[in-house]
Amino acid sequence: MKRNATLLRKILMILILILFVICIIITCYQYFSPFHGSYAYIYQDGNLLHVIDLSQTDKPYEITVDYRGKESEGYNIIRVENGKIGIKDADCPDKTCVHMGMTSSKNYPITCLPHKLIIQIKGEDTSTSNQEVDAISQ
Ligand SMILES: [Zn+2]
Repeated sequence: MKRNATLLRKILMILILILFVICIIITCYQYFSPFHGSYAYIYQDGNLLHVIDLSQTDKPYEITVDYRGKESEGYNIIRVENGKIGIKDADCPDKTCVHMGMTSSKNYPITCLPHKLIIQIKGEDTSTSNQEVDAISQ
């Protein structure tokens, strides 16, 4: 009887260990994978223009966003790839946005200051993104 109990305890320990490892793998996958639940929010002058699901991009494509300001007019050509987004071309004076390249990072938004354009990558959670929309438009 005592031997059975130790064997059972060993099996339980191994099962818990396996579950623990699976949990770590899932957490790592969600944390590092740019394809999981990544949405690109494109703002111009504080207004949300487009929301793009970056995990649903089978073929790369481009969106042209026109800018009509009081002092100048222009455009930004936004390129969307699977899990990534970036500004391919723009006629802004500094071209900083074009030089930022393609990104999948949630931490650093792509910005074009002359055209008041911001591309922010976020997760699916809309409760936090609503707060951020308010923060940007203020
Ligand atoms: Zn720019």
